[in-house]
Amino acid sequence: MIREIVEIGHPTLREMAQEVPVDEIPSKWVQELIDDLIETKRFANGAGLAAPQVAEPWRIFVAEVGNNPRYPYKPPIPLTVVINPQISFNTEDRMSVYEGCLSIPNLRGIVNRCPDVRVEGWDQNGDLVDKTVRGISAGTFQHEDDHLNGILYTDLVTDAKSLCTWGEFERR
Ligand code: ZN
Repeated sequence: MIREIVEIGHPTLREMAQEVPVDEIPSKWVQELIDDLIETKRFANGAGLAAPQVAEPWRIFVAEVGNNPRYPYKPPIPLTVVINPQISFNTEDRMSVYEGCLSIPNLRGIVNRCPDVRVEGWDQNGDLVDKTVRGISAGTFQHEDDHLNGILYTDLVTDAKSLCTWGEFERR
């Protein structure tokens, strides 16, 4: 089911999301929430979607980049579901990237992200996830993980003057 994506100002986007009990991963409510996140993300052409963005305060996000008209410059990410993620940085390096967010319509801004991260957690089958993600995709995973801690990318912009609309972004 396609859910409504809540926008900046909605209180759930500012909460600490709760851990999903691992023994509940096979349960109907968790499986339906994951299915809805995937369906809603694809419908909205997002690179990722976190449960708080559909007003569900649980530590789950999905990421996937295929042929995405919203992000033609992004490298592909196969569909990845992460429950109770732990992200650790493999390097002190940081890269500046333009980000946008489905919960902050028509805005983009520059944030600093670690270009090489380790992502651990559980997937939708209850199997352990342990993967290394590099480049722009690493930024996508950090952005989605931030949603589980009540953080939006606009909190992190290094220079508020980088904020721009999609129309102006594409013109430059
Ligand atoms: Zn977002």
